[in-house]
Amino acid sequence: MNCSICQNLIIPDSISKWDKGNNAWPINDGRCCDNCNHLVVMARLKSQEEIEKDIIEWVRKDVANLDDETKEWLKKEKEKEGLPNADDLPK
Ligand SMILES: [Zn+2]
Repeated sequence: MNCSICQNLIIPDSISKWDKGNNAWPINDGRCCDNCNHLVVMARLKSQEEIEKDIIEWVRKDVANLDDETKEWLKKEKEKEGLPNADDLPK
């Protein structure tokens, strides 16, 4: 089969004979060769960062909309569970 990114033939692994290459997500939904896989890995790290930013943003907004009593309660609950507080997140 061919790489979905560079279109080159995916060389089967010499030991396992695996010829399906690597998962090309998030660049596309296909498979990719080992050469392209490092791009995929970088794209994946990047998207992970984006996801984490979204979560941080969501937590911030979520906490900002709560009343003080609920904020206090949530802070204590989060401390109990070792979760980050919005106050501790990088600005
Ligand atoms: Zn490729």
